[in-house]
Parts: sequence; C-alpha cells; structure tokens
Amino acid sequence: MPSPVLCWFRQDLRLTDNPAWSAACQSGAQILPVYILDDTSAKDWKMGGASRVWLHHSLKSLNKSLNGNLLILSGNAEKLIPALASQIKADKIFWNRCYEPWRIARDTKIKDICEQNNVGCISSNGSLLWEPWEIKKQDGTPYKVFTPYFRKGCLSAPPPRSPLPSPKLPNFFPHSNASIDNIFETQNLLPKHPHWDRSMMSYWSVGETAAQKKLKDFLENKLQGYKEGRNYPKRNQTSLLSPHLHFGEISPNQIWHAATLFGLTTQQTIDLDCFQSELAWREFSHTLLYYNPTLAEKPLNPKFENFDWAGIDNEQLERWQKGETGFPIVDAGMRELWATGYMHNRVRMITASFLIKDLRYHWRVGEEWFWDTLVDANLANNAASWQWVAGCGADAAPYFRIFNPTTQGEKFDLDQTYINKWAPDSHKIKPMLNHKKARERALESYSNL
Ligand SMILES: Cc1cc2nc3c(=O)[nH]c(=O)nc-3n(C[C@H](O)[C@H](O)[C@H](O)COP(=O)(O)OP(=O)(O)OC[C@H]3O[C@@H](n4cnc5c(N)ncnc54)[C@H](O)[C@@H]3O)c2cc1C
Repeated sequence: MPSPVLCWFRQDLRLTDNPAWSAACQSGAQILPVYILDDTSAKDWKMGGASRVWLHHSLKSLNKSLNGNLLILSGNAEKLIPALASQIKADKIFWNRCYEPWRIARDTKIKDICEQNNVGCISSNGSLLWEPWEIKKQDGTPYKVFTPYFRKGCLSAPPPRSPLPSPKLPNFFPHSNASIDNIFETQNLLPKHPHWDRSMMSYWSVGETAAQKKLKDFLENKLQGYKEGRNYPKRNQTSLLSPHLHFGEISPNQIWHAATLFGLTTQQTIDLDCFQSELAWREFSHTLLYYNPTLAEKPLNPKFENFDWAGIDNEQLERWQKGETGFPIVDAGMRELWATGYMHNRVRMITASFLIKDLRYHWRVGEEWFWDTLVDANLANNAASWQWVAGCGADAAPYFRIFNPTTQGEKFDLDQTYINKWAPDSHKIKPMLNHKKARERALESYSNL
C-alpha cells in the first residue's frame, strides 16, 4: 500500500479538469483533501467579506462532491501543511499553482520544508490558460501591451490543454472532522449580525455544477451578440462566470474549449474572438501581477507616485460607496455591487473613473472597497483594472480620458432600465459635485505630473 498523500485545494474548488486532484488520484494512494483559510500569510490581502461568503458555499459544495471528506482548517499554511503531512505520514502533496505574490512566497517555503522532510511537492497549472512565463516577446521579456500579448503571444502559442475528466473517487484518508457543520461554524466565514449574506446569495448558485450550468446558458443564450451586448448593463449578456473562475469552480480551459467548439460550430466567430479576448485579459492581469509583485499597491508608472490625490472626506467617500452621488449610473452600479457582490464591467469602469478622476481619490481606495464587496475579488484582475482606469497601469486608458457619468449613462443605459432597477431615486439626489469643474481640476493635477 503506498503512503497516503495530501491534495491541497486552494483556488481550484472543483473535481473536473483539476490537474492536482487528477494526479493525486492517479497515485493510487489514500488521499486527504484539505483546504486552509490562511489569513496569516495573506496579511493585507485577506479575503474580503463578500468573498468569504462565497467561499463558505463553495467549500460546502466541494465537500459534498468529496462525500464529506474535505478537511477544513484555518491558520498559517506554512506550519499546517508540513505538520499535517508528517502527522498522516504522507509522502507527497499535490496542489495547483497560485500567482499572488504572498502565496508564491509561502508556497516556496512550504516546498523547501517538505522536501527537507522527504515529502514531494507536485504542483500543476489549474488556473490559467498560459502561465506567465509561457507567453513572452521575441526578446524574452513579458508583454506590456494587451493586443500583441493576445494576438501575437497567446494565439500563436500552443493551445491551452484540453480539460481533464473527473477521476473516480479514491480511497480517502480518514480524519476526525466529526461534524462538518461545526467546522463551517468555527470558520466564521458568514456574517452574524445582520445576515446580509442571505440577500446577496439569493442572486447566485455556487459550486462546480452551478458554474457548468452558467457556462451552458452563456453559450446557448448570450454568446451571440456578446461583442456588442457586453457593453450594456441592462442586457445581462456577459457570462457572470467571474466568481466561479476566481474560486476555481470552473477552469478557464473548460470555458475556452467549450466556447471554441460552440462558437465555431455555430459560426459566431466575431463574438467568440471577443469572449476569448476577455478571458485573455484575465491571463494578462495575472502576468502583470507575476512580473510586478507590487501591482496591487504601487502604480506601474512611477510618475503617478507624485500625483496630488485629494485627501479623503469620509462623508463623500460614503456617498460613493452607498451609491448616493446623485449621478444615476454611478449610484446604480454601486448599489448593484452592495446588493449582489457583482457589478457589470462597463459600470465598474464608470464608478472607478468617478472615484479616481471626479473625486480625485487614490485608486487604492476603490481597489480596497471592491476587494471587500466583490464576490469575484481577484488580486490580479482588481489591481490591474484599477490601475488601467487610473491611467497608471500597463496599456492603460490615458488619464485625460475622463468618463462623463451623465453621457455614459445616456449612452449605455438610454432607457434607464439598469438605473431604474438599482437606483430609481438617484435623480432626486443633489449631485455631489460639478463634473465639468471636477474634470478641469483632474486635468490640472495630471498636467502637473
Ligand atoms: C475597476 C475594476 C475592477 C475589477 N475587479 C475585478 C475583480 O476583482 N475580479 C475580476 O474577476 N474582474 C474584475 N474586473 C474585470 C471585469 O469587470 C470582470 O471580470 C467582469 O465584469 C466579470 O463579469 P463576467 O464574468 O460576466 O465577464 P465576461 O464578459 O463574461 O468575461 C468572461 C471572463 O473574462 C474575464 N474578464 C472579463 N473582463 C476582464 C477584465 N477587464 N480584466 C480581467 N479579466 C476579465 C473574467 O474572468 C470573466 O469572468 C474589474 C474591472 C474594473 C473596471
């Protein structure tokens, strides 16, 4: 009988197309599947409130698929993983790689400790179509501009691996998680007073099966016309797969291959190309984070270190957070976020531009609010997107391109369906600022850079 092995689930909470899980199953050994909520190592980037709620439901779903055999722990993984391996006398640990700088540093240490104890660490790619080091320019350096990254880099690289089937459930290593419900209780992932999670989660179904259903619905009902429709919040024409992708309930490979097959057989090539390019933005953001580990904290363009951001007025900030700015499209977006843990991409850009350019608040203020409130909060995507809107990121929108929140609302929500859904009273609120003056002030700050 081979020694038991650990399979450490992280941002890959699924059994199908999960390279680490497949490899663990292939070993033929007894498996102890484990998840660790590691706030210690995450430091400033502990999971936000909305993400914790999602995680709670996602772990429940994964545990069910594993017939109740998932061990859930919280604490410092650097200590817990080697200790667990030694306790059960495991000789191998399987995991899929993550790309947040704090996870890379932690996992490198864990690997060193385990290998010193003769425990092998086998890591795989379970979260990206192409890992950051696989797509490089001809001179060997990483791309800094999206279009050549996608067109020249990704599309001429070997295609992403085909999805792996779900292995037959293995023999599990027994553990004493007597009552799994107690474990969930002690993890404190759900808020207690008030239970705001209940209304937020009424918008979502969580887990691997739900993610597959959403993909099917997207391909059959939304892919056609996606290129145009994705810009209009009321059309609900995007996939809504982002939280499922973040937690790894579905892999980008499953999405890429299913979309390619469906798009080519139904001849929806323009929409397919656009959808694939959005998936590639996710890849690009992870590449940016990998090669710029301070992406979430510092502007990529160092000139912006000297930008004269306005001091924070808490009352004003709260008006933005609560969706009470008096600019209906901004208010609708912020309230959609508060209610559902999600905001449409177009409106994310408008609300972010309002914070950074109209209020002249540092992009990190918005980044942190989104981090806490989004169910799809993802360090790479969030940081890269905030820097993009601020004009200080890679291939960013120029700072002087300032969205007018009124005309953006007219252009993308002409009949106000989206606004009426989320902020029907906003037009009665006195606008908190004069956009024309705010714009001039922002441009002045920019010209002083
Ligand atoms: C200020 C700001 C903050 C953002 N923060 C996040 C975040 O924390 N997490 C997150 O996943 N996305 C973030 N985005 C990107 C984008 O808004 C969401 O990925 C998208 O709205 C998710 O909806 P969807 O799944 O229906 O997208 P679809 O249009 O169906 O796209 C499919 C997938 O492609 C990826 N994708 C699409 N657009 C982008 C993009 N611009 N950058 C990176 N990946 C993209 C997502 O994984 C998405 O699920 C942010 C955008 C802005 C402007």
